[in-house]
Amino acid sequence: MSGNKFDDTTYYCYEYCQTCQSYKLNRTHHSKKLNCCIYKFDHFCQWLGIVINYGNYKLFLQYIILNLINCLIVFVVSLYRLVMLRQWIGLSVMYLALSALFLLALISLVAVHWKLIYTNQTTVEFLNYRWLKKHDKQNGIIYSPILQNNGNLEYISIKDCNIVYTRDNFISNIRDALGPINIFLLLPTLNSFQTLNLEVSNKLKEQYKNVYKAN
Ligand SMILES: [Zn+2]
Repeated sequence: MSGNKFDDTTYYCYEYCQTCQSYKLNRTHHSKKLNCCIYKFDHFCQWLGIVINYGNYKLFLQYIILNLINCLIVFVVSLYRLVMLRQWIGLSVMYLALSALFLLALISLVAVHWKLIYTNQTTVEFLNYRWLKKHDKQNGIIYSPILQNNGNLEYISIKDCNIVYTRDNFISNIRDALGPINIFLLLPTLNSFQTLNLEVSNKLKEQYKNVYKAN
């Protein structure tokens, strides 16, 4: 491998979408359902019937957290009615069981997404990483085409391109996932693409500096 994958000052990473037959930004995933590439595609939510991506990720997170709070209130009130007041026993038991079930599912979901935000990954990237880790052992490294500044294609490990997203600190990771940290963070607003940070992480820059030094 030779040449510079990245510019000296800005480090943007591109990939090629075989379906759209065009270059796409790194961290963009092709959605089969919508038949287009979506930036930071997370998953297709069966409950909401929409694609969770960079734009609506914060709304999705607020939605599951509010549902969790809702289930917690139902759980506590049902428990109070059952144990303290001994009212509506049958109904309270049913509400208790249902809310406990949903609480478990929602707590797991929030925990998973907390970890994803903490490590600056989307669900798709996390699953890809798991698949690549397993696949690498069997068939070696898989390469992804990257568009260089001079217009040529360069191939780098998908693993390098797709995984090293973690920025310098956790606050930067929150900003990448949920947008700027201000009062709007708590409001149900869409993530603005104007504040999008497209630069690759310092970790990836360092990694590729070393690759070129070695060559
Ligand atoms: Zn595509």
